[in-house]
Amino acid sequence: MLKVRSRVAVGPLRRPVIAPIPLSSVDALVEELRPAEPMIAIRPRTLRRTAETFVQTFPGDVLYAVKCNPEPTVLRALWRGGVRHFDCASLQEIRTVRSLFVDAKIHYMHPIKMPAAIRQAYAEFGVRDFSVDSAEEIEKVVAATDGADDLGIYVRLAMPKGQTVYDLSGKFGADAAEMPALLRQARAAAKVLGVCFHVGSQCMEPAVYERALDLAGRVIAEAGVAIDGIDVGGGFPVSYPDVTPPALELYFAAIRRGFAKLELAPGTRLWCEPGRALVAAGASLVVQVEARRGDVLYINDGVYGSLSDAGVPKWRFPARVARKADGSPLSADGGTTGFAFYGPTCDSADFMQGPFTLPSDVKTGDWIELGQLGAYGACLRTAFNGFDRTLMTEVRDEPLLSTPGHLDDQGTNTGNPVVTNALA
Ligand SMILES: *Cc1c(COP(=O)(O)O)cnc(C)c1O
Repeated sequence: MLKVRSRVAVGPLRRPVIAPIPLSSVDALVEELRPAEPMIAIRPRTLRRTAETFVQTFPGDVLYAVKCNPEPTVLRALWRGGVRHFDCASLQEIRTVRSLFVDAKIHYMHPIKMPAAIRQAYAEFGVRDFSVDSAEEIEKVVAATDGADDLGIYVRLAMPKGQTVYDLSGKFGADAAEMPALLRQARAAAKVLGVCFHVGSQCMEPAVYERALDLAGRVIAEAGVAIDGIDVGGGFPVSYPDVTPPALELYFAAIRRGFAKLELAPGTRLWCEPGRALVAAGASLVVQVEARRGDVLYINDGVYGSLSDAGVPKWRFPARVARKADGSPLSADGGTTGFAFYGPTCDSADFMQGPFTLPSDVKTGDWIELGQLGAYGACLRTAFNGFDRTLMTEVRDEPLLSTPGHLDDQGTNTGNPVVTNALA
């Protein structure tokens, strides 16, 4: 038989450069290392605190959506903050989580899976919960597990369009009209039957969850079957420049109300699957300016690296100068300017419109910290054009932005977001 070996296209990040305590801030690290490659600075304390916020205040179990940032350092920090459930969407994510935590509860929440992956997840990694959104997928899960009698099947309900920045119902989810038949089919195969949905990422309106739960309630009533679990997905937002979401507790209150109105049997489980909100503040990216042309900076990372969301999605990230090339003191006395960025590859699409607000005198050689990149940052890297390297470090300073309702490193509930690391 022909043997073909697969290989990973992009390697894991290089081992963290762990700084001694006095050098534990981004500024101190940049001063010490003068990194010539982009550098991811992970904040384990912030990650642990944010995990504690969710675990202690969400009225159910918190599943971390691993795709958002699968770095072991990140997963360990979330575990320390009390996260025990992991929403995985691939065998490799499942393998990573299981290799770190033998006791983790892993849920395979991708509605379209390969039979071999389902089989291996079930038999080798102890996964029991699977999400589905079609009759075919229910049959697939049943067949791949040889009709196991301990399956949890979560049927994914598609959301009405147009209520979030990132719609996640274009590709997955069954329409409300299809749901009752799917729920009845899944009930016959499942020990635990659930309904799951995803309202879309960075959802700015708490009431969206209440409406989604209301829709779930209607399809459940129509199906006429007993339900054991509701999974409200991810979508919880974080602060970005000029974007302040409603406080996290308002989302949890809306979910609590919506869930109560369903009047499901006592003991029905409630889950959420946050990605972005758990990890965004947990890492910054440090880049260096390679050239300046007017209000455009050519930097050493871009849309094929950790800044994918700054490209076509035009995401803006909080920015600050971390160190001047010549070591001169940081100051914004000359005012600030909104800059656009070009990344290092030869593709003109490697462009980030921003604007990213920085001191007007920023120059070639300066290092810039970009915040809120713990979510959907480094995990989206490619090796295009040979720019395949990124340093990873851990720091203990505060993130650039805080999000209302999240605990900060002192354990206090943050109010309005402030740039905690701004220039003096
Ligand atoms: C991506 C994803 C999440 C996480 O979404 P966020 O908006 O980052 O919170 C949760 N559940 C599923 C099924 C996902 O695909």
